[in-house]
Amino acid sequence: MSIVCELAAPFIANSAVDGGEVLRPFRSHAASCLKCQARHAAMAKTARELAAMEGHRIAAPADLEWRVMTSLEGDLAVPRSWRRPVAWSAAVVSMAAAILIWRLRPRTS
Ligand SMILES: [Zn+2]
Repeated sequence: MSIVCELAAPFIANSAVDGGEVLRPFRSHAASCLKCQARHAAMAKTARELAAMEGHRIAAPADLEWRVMTSLEGDLAVPRSWRRPVAWSAAVVSMAAAILIWRLRPRTS
């Protein structure tokens, strides 16, 4: 990738997403550069795929928040020494809640 390719990248991206032409300062470069054309094609494909997903809702895994928080480094990180006890506590609390719900379920007979 040349410096021109890197400078053109945001304009290539805009063109790929909105379907318009690459802005004039980079239009001739984009027309002759195979790398920029490949980048444009890849971004246009991604934009089409994202547009096709509009309205689709995909449920996040139940443990997503926990996995994200435990993978963080820095101020927001869960201290490593807490990870295992917190996970065990969460498992015990959820088992207790399940047992309580089971015991308190309405019975018809
Ligand atoms: Zn280029």
